[in-house]
Amino acid sequence: MSTLPLEQLLRKNIKELTPYSCARDEFQGQASVYLDANENPYNAPYNRYPDPLQRELKLKIAAIKGLRPGQVFLGNGSDESIDVLFRAFCEPRTDNVVAIEPTYGMYRVAAGINDVAYRTVLLDEQFQMDADKLLAACDERTKLIFLCSPNNPTGNSLNRAEVLKLLNNFEGLLVLDEAYIDFASEPSLMNRLDEYPGLVVLQTFSKAWGSAAIRLGMALASESIVKVLNKIKYPYNIGLPTQQQAMKMLEVAPKVKDWVASILQERDRLSKALSELRLVKHIYPTDANFLLVRVSDANRLYTALTEQGIIVRNRNNVSLCLGCLRITVGTSDENNSLLQALKAMD
Ligand SMILES: *Cc1c(COP(=O)(O)O)cnc(C)c1O
Repeated sequence: MSTLPLEQLLRKNIKELTPYSCARDEFQGQASVYLDANENPYNAPYNRYPDPLQRELKLKIAAIKGLRPGQVFLGNGSDESIDVLFRAFCEPRTDNVVAIEPTYGMYRVAAGINDVAYRTVLLDEQFQMDADKLLAACDERTKLIFLCSPNNPTGNSLNRAEVLKLLNNFEGLLVLDEAYIDFASEPSLMNRLDEYPGLVVLQTFSKAWGSAAIRLGMALASESIVKVLNKIKYPYNIGLPTQQQAMKMLEVAPKVKDWVASILQERDRLSKALSELRLVKHIYPTDANFLLVRVSDANRLYTALTEQGIIVRNRNNVSLCLGCLRITVGTSDENNSLLQALKAMD
């Protein structure tokens, strides 16, 4: 393992930063009279500031994931974790990050917002990456590498041996976005955090957990990385309704398993039915809850579907995805509507 010490990776201003200390940081525990935070005494429970470190929720998440609570950072969606990583580690106009291409668009946007150079390495025709090519794109100013597995929009899981090769050879932090891991046939890498101190695994409540509306993302990493992220985030970044709803979802984890099983079953049925259409040229292997499908005329199909109120994602203009639509697996009825519309155009 070759990760540099965190003090060497951190931006100087962040290393030296004294974080804002809010009322709920200074007093923790149960009291009977709260007169410390200038809250309104009426309108419980929403009158009170929520736990800035979401301790109860992290205990539960850690227990479910087999981690220690200190290895869990919670953000307003994965997007907050991505932004906070840039702000902690990447000096604007000086440092750079490396990412695979094509992949999730937010890494590039966050790099742009933070004025950090974003270097990409094209995947091969099977959408697989070559660890050596990524390493060759890195220099002494590369702080983060972004990988996404299963990858969006391609759907495939990245070759595990190549990911491990990067982990073993890269000196910065490897951010592995596992937004779709619950649909994948391979296990998460989160249980190897102790082995790889430079690993940051991103997961989210937005996909398998069926909770995109509450905006809750997890960055799973070493305690020292999580401490840094906590120092930078807004003090009360996760609202009480979100914390409460997430607690509720964690209690119905078996139901989530059932959802995933149904979605996987529907995915296979949808894939098979699509493959029988002439306008479908290729369906890429997927480990996620969506299919990347090459069709005869992506722009025309996209427009025709939209006119019928069926919205898929047109990926025609994305590298290596020429002629492709990305189709999320819906309910059986929703998938049938799509199939029916496509059959009528076939
Ligand atoms: C959907 C998705 C996310 C989820 O982002 P949130 O901000 O947590 O909703 C993260 N990464 C990828 C690759 C995704 O496709």
